[in-house]
Amino acid sequence: MPEGHSIHRLALVLTELFSGEVVRASSPQGRFAAGAELLDGSRILPVQAWGKHLFIPFADADNPDPTADISRSNVADHLEIRWIHVHLGLYGRWVFNGDDSFLKSKLLGVPHIIIGEGDEVRSAVTDPADDVQFGTRTDLGGIVEAGPSASAWRPPAPRGAVRLRILTENGVADLSGPNQCEVKTGAEVAAVLARLGPDPLRNAPGDRALFIDLVRRRRAPIGGLVMDQSVAAGPGNIYRAETLFRVGIHPDRPGAKVSRQRIGLMWDDLVDIMTDGLETGTIQTIQPDLAPAKPIEGDLEASRWAVYHRTGRPCLRCGSTIREKLMQGRRLFWCPGCQR
Ligand SMILES: [Zn+2]
Repeated sequence: MPEGHSIHRLALVLTELFSGEVVRASSPQGRFAAGAELLDGSRILPVQAWGKHLFIPFADADNPDPTADISRSNVADHLEIRWIHVHLGLYGRWVFNGDDSFLKSKLLGVPHIIIGEGDEVRSAVTDPADDVQFGTRTDLGGIVEAGPSASAWRPPAPRGAVRLRILTENGVADLSGPNQCEVKTGAEVAAVLARLGPDPLRNAPGDRALFIDLVRRRRAPIGGLVMDQSVAAGPGNIYRAETLFRVGIHPDRPGAKVSRQRIGLMWDDLVDIMTDGLETGTIQTIQPDLAPAKPIEGDLEASRWAVYHRTGRPCLRCGSTIREKLMQGRRLFWCPGCQR
């Protein structure tokens, strides 16, 4: 499942490609026919991400000035806006195709969202349930196909079970396999957001204190809380393991037994490393002073991560053996020497 930074990147790409456009929409597979009919002929507004959830707002084509300034507190007030709520889940993905002008999008030009760029680390990640998946898929949960020149572009036939197709004169985005794809009102979006914890990539005023409170209230191990989307929206399995290492907290420690100061430091760290992921499109969380000078044969992970997928290898800081266990069904990695 993509981590939150990938969904935020997706929101940026969809905004760049479609915001302000009056679009055609359809559901080639048929399962979202009614929703696509509502979207068809509407104007798309700046796309929002919240944790691992994507929200595509749209309004009537002649809506004079639909505001983009939408927050947790005012989303329900915008009655003129409807939303497509997408959660990719494990198998959802977007495929983009378009003419030169469409594909020249600055964001589409970022290397890590172009097909094949994941190859450099394919050998380093083998757990299909984990957050980085390769093959025909990218960190973004999206695929970019090269199109012909502008004059010749025609939308390709949908491939596979495409739930939603969004089309302009210059390009197309096809969504298939999402866990969730529903039209919602602002009030319904507000209800979804109310169940989500603060998102480090939004880091709104009050979010840091809220995160500290949410962790301190719980007796569950902090290794589970970091990935609990009602405590923090966005972090997945890689960020979970790496931030606990970077801040030095043992994953088994109950949330209520971690000091407010350390939880605050973890929030700050999540903001830093996820912002880096948003900007680069990849998760590389190894601290520069720990990173090996050159890739280690048989331990390529060490160039990117301190503990993630490094079971049985020496900690780059203290030399202890990195350990692994299942927590809430997901593989968790930590250093018994560095994390208390
Ligand atoms: Zn260590």
